[in-house]
Amino acid sequence: MNKHNPDARDDENENCKVCGHPFDPHVVIAYDSNDLAKGGEMRCQVEDCDCFQTLSFDLSDKEWTKKLDSLLKRPS
Ligand SMILES: [Zn+2]
Ligand SMILES: [Zn+2]
Repeated sequence: MNKHNPDARDDENENCKVCGHPFDPHVVIAYDSNDLAKGGEMRCQVEDCDCFQTLSFDLSDKEWTKKLDSLLKRPS
């Protein structure tokens, strides 16, 4: 059996651990996009879902950082 990190924010199916929706409609907002160490928050975009998590970005977690990067809304 695959050992899964209990601190992961999504399950093995890439669904949010809080609301069970796929991670994809979630939006991550960094309080300071130039300094991710300040943390941020994540909300689910699914209608009527009140999933909300504050995040501390563990930048040593490469998998998470990669995912974070794709979720983060960056000003273009
Ligand atoms: Zn949700
Ligand atoms: Zn969620």
